[in-house]
Amino acid sequence: MNIILLGPPGAGKGTQSKYLEDHFHLKQLSTGDMLRHAVATGSPVGVVAKSFMEGGKLVPDDVVVGVISEAIEALPKETAGFILDGFPRSVPQAGILDQLLDRIGKNIDAVIVVDVKDDILVKRISGRFTCGSCGEVFNDFFRLPKTEGVCDRCGSTSFKRRSDDNPDTVRERLVVYHEQTKPLIDYYKAKGKLNIIDGEAAIEDVKERINEFLGATRQ
Ligand SMILES: [Zn+2]
Repeated sequence: MNIILLGPPGAGKGTQSKYLEDHFHLKQLSTGDMLRHAVATGSPVGVVAKSFMEGGKLVPDDVVVGVISEAIEALPKETAGFILDGFPRSVPQAGILDQLLDRIGKNIDAVIVVDVKDDILVKRISGRFTCGSCGEVFNDFFRLPKTEGVCDRCGSTSFKRRSDDNPDTVRERLVVYHEQTKPLIDYYKAKGKLNIIDGEAAIEDVKERINEFLGATRQ
């Protein structure tokens, strides 16, 4: 069973991926990780990718697909499938991916969209801060330290915040995300593969929903 995971930044895709890996024996293939791995191992396509990355250029789609192809071929035999995260981001990329999967005799069984309202995402991302000592994650809106200014876990009083995570830049990133993703969602909807899950629901409900439709997909 092979899955594409789509969702805006802050939607909690990491949590969903982890769950899918643990309960369905799938392997998460994140574009960033695959590229770094290909470059580090010096595979033929990794060498090409590296030349673009070093020049500060975007790695072209056909090179990314080459990297994905390598990663899929390298999956251990006991893996039940993969979760693709970070690719495709556009309809042309989805087309290239379909061609690749055709060539290697695989296909996408389900596309999962983790849906969260923009207002919530802005709060999740812009409200986020971490303990400077132990890295514990807090949030201005959803999880303040029990004692103001003191880390719950280690007692440190120094915290870190990413400067590019302010509400305006987060909103801009979300506008770009929606512009890019809407056609992609329509593309997979037309193929009857789209499953939308409510990323604002309690985590147990989200898991149950995943079980429901993936259980049905497996029949
Ligand atoms: Zn701490």
